[in-house]
Amino acid sequence: MIRFTEVSKRYPNGFQALSRVSFHLERGGMAFLTGHSGAGKSTLLKLITRMETCSQGQVLVDGQNVARLPSRRVPGLRRSMGIVFQNHHLLFDRTVFDNVAVPLVIAGLPHGEVRRRVHAALDKVGLLSKEKLYPIALSGGEQQRVGIARAVVHRPPLLLADEPTGNLDPELSAEIMGLFEQFNQVGVTVLVASHDLALIRAMGQRVLTLARGELAQGGVPA
Ligand code: ADP
Ligand code: ADP
Repeated sequence: MIRFTEVSKRYPNGFQALSRVSFHLERGGMAFLTGHSGAGKSTLLKLITRMETCSQGQVLVDGQNVARLPSRRVPGLRRSMGIVFQNHHLLFDRTVFDNVAVPLVIAGLPHGEVRRRVHAALDKVGLLSKEKLYPIALSGGEQQRVGIARAVVHRPPLLLADEPTGNLDPELSAEIMGLFEQFNQVGVTVLVASHDLALIRAMGQRVLTLARGELAQGGVPA
């Protein structure tokens, strides 16, 4: 599903954020991406979503060379992914239901189908009873669950998360990571970036470790 081959990223200011990173995450697989702050985790995810393009090497997502994709096909690439952010980017003037519905409304799905899918997604994250509330009325962990429901509501085959537990206490963090595992168990390919090594070790999943832009663990030897 994701294949990096000798991927390097140098930002316009000359900073080398990634150096010759190679790994493969198979369809239906799951991995955590870790490393200290500044190690290159966000950069690596941005190469997958085409928020950035690599300077050298090749990034394949579902067989597509992401850097070479014409810009008219970038929205389609992003629709094949669910993306969860640390600050979940919820709309505070809309209910939980309406927040989760956003991707489906944009896609123009009929009203009944939107309802059905939003309810299925909220059910998966345990928030069905809170659909009419506004995000301000939810705890931090619940807000992040809404962000996850929104990321999966269009049933993407690939789920990416960038520090999804950054603002949560350890117990809630473990619950959120457990949710990602559940999506993986129904066939979704999952890649989660987190600097929380203790939590990641406890999950017992594959770990990719970045150190100053190089893959120090979990990749393919150069
Ligand atoms: P992480 O997610 O592991 O904290 P990042 O990928 O955000 O790491 O950043 C890796 C390095 O790249 C950092 O030193 C950061 O300052 C640098 N960096 C990130 N974005 C840019 C940019 N747009 N221009 C220049 N340097 C950047
Ligand atoms: P339905 O098939 O009726 O949409 P499900 O009970 O199978 O309902 O749950 C669908 C929900 O599962 C989605 O709304 C989403 O939350 C989550 N999901 C996301 N991607 C997948 C996937 N590839 N396979 C199964 N479930 C997924």
